[in-house]
Amino acid sequence: KRVENKTALITGSANGIGKAVALLLAKQGATVAITDVDDEAGNRLAEEIVAAGNVAKFWHLDTADEDNVKHVFADVKREFGAIDILVNNAGIAGVNKPTHEILKEEWEHLMNINVTGVFLCTKHVIPQMMEVSAGSIVNLSSIYGLVGGADLPPYHASKGAVRLMSKNDALTYAKNNIRVNSVHPGFIWTPLVESLANESPIGPEAFKKHLDSLHPMGHGGDPDDVAYGVLYLASDESKFVTGSELVIDGGYTAR
Ligand code: NAD
Repeated sequence: KRVENKTALITGSANGIGKAVALLLAKQGATVAITDVDDEAGNRLAEEIVAAGNVAKFWHLDTADEDNVKHVFADVKREFGAIDILVNNAGIAGVNKPTHEILKEEWEHLMNINVTGVFLCTKHVIPQMMEVSAGSIVNLSSIYGLVGGADLPPYHASKGAVRLMSKNDALTYAKNNIRVNSVHPGFIWTPLVESLANESPIGPEAFKKHLDSLHPMGHGGDPDDVAYGVLYLASDESKFVTGSELVIDGGYTAR
């Protein structure tokens, strides 16, 4: 098993990509702390993992709330031991309007979750990782942390920030043997993209076809495509990899 005897905390892991990551890390031997604001789906996933004979527990965690982060991270350490793997996955798409129409509150709401949430979870896991001089932090950026797009301005800005936060922390904590890498998926069919499709003026079916056509491979990806990349970065197989960008995008950014 590829992450045996490791404790992993995954934010936003009740649904979508985070859920696929939690299932795969648990299957590969990790003890998994599932955290999300969606308590029902989070508890259900923890039960599913335990029923399959692996170890998991759900914690309610809003990544934008520092008090909540601090307490949950301490609690996970008490219950499961120091966190070896942190996957900063929680994120929202936010408003889809041009910059000149966005309210400051809308901008700040997204930044609080997509950027400050990553900062807070990193801040509170680093002391645990420093104690054992080891750790792997995997941050979910996006293709839109690498290239622009003429929509979702706050989202794209937030993913650019996450890319550079990963490199900065990779440099700061390299001497502590704490690795920090970012993952850059193309479009993955999850509740997040489904809600974009449902809001689309061209309708969900045409929207999905359009998204598929954006990728040189002719289709978007599955949550598992991303989970396998996260597993590699989380495991000791990537022990010399830090500050890197793992693109999982069907060729989207190769042009
Ligand atoms: P999703 O909406 O399907 O799932 C996100 C999960 O995060 C949900 O369970 C939600 O309840 C949770 N969440 C939302 N706000 C939270 C908060 N404040 N604290 C804790 N949990 C919170 O999204 P997804 O598509 O699985 O995306 C996961 C990550 O991958 C995000 O960071 C997203 O930006 C990134 N990403 C997604 C795609 C894609 O196409 N789906 C592409 C590139 C990057």
